[in-house]
Amino acid sequence: MSDKPVNHVSQVNSKLETLPSILTIPLVTDIPCLNFINTVENRLSPVKRRDTLATYADLIAFALRLNLLNVGAYTVLSKLATRSELFAERSLSDARAFRNALTSIVDTLVRAQSRLQERNIHPEALAIFDAARRKAHESESLSWSDNQLNIVTGPEDEGLDAPWLILVRDAERLLCSNDATRIRICSAEGCGWAFLDQSKNSTRRWCSMQSCGNREKALRFKSRNEKQ
Ligand SMILES: [Zn+2]
Repeated sequence: MSDKPVNHVSQVNSKLETLPSILTIPLVTDIPCLNFINTVENRLSPVKRRDTLATYADLIAFALRLNLLNVGAYTVLSKLATRSELFAERSLSDARAFRNALTSIVDTLVRAQSRLQERNIHPEALAIFDAARRKAHESESLSWSDNQLNIVTGPEDEGLDAPWLILVRDAERLLCSNDATRIRICSAEGCGWAFLDQSKNSTRRWCSMQSCGNREKALRFKSRNEKQ
């Protein structure tokens, strides 16, 4: 787990006194699309819920932090967003809609694994994800190199949408693979963060032991003592 922004993020934001919260929230998994879900803190708590994805600048800063964009691409998008504010707003709105659809689908997948709860997928979430998936493949082309066929994606053709379309392709890879059965939602009350359980016996329950795990254990210990 890493809770510090990588160096090039600090360089780009060196003039800011405090980093936006999207650059300081812990990354509890190394799967980009799951970290994207986790840009909403305490998402299952009506009182503490907080969305750290507030602006288009947050979106590209997050993509830079996850190494989905390099500093050059970040700078180009940052300038483009300043010139085309309305388009940047629309792209942010589409990114949020995709994130919400992805979150809904991941919640359904996790519930389906328990085999106890309702397993119907939300049709609107599926439609949004499917439309995003088709858009994310529009700029792909086949090329021949190293004696083999390769699918080449041209993020430069995707303009302002490039950062979240990279996340769409990542989500598609994960959700359509066997690893989808290893996706978990943190067991701590209100947390709702998603992660991939790569433990040997598939027993990981918390997004992070340092925060949710220790807090939940302390709460259970306290409640046991109060009952005695
Ligand atoms: Zn948690």
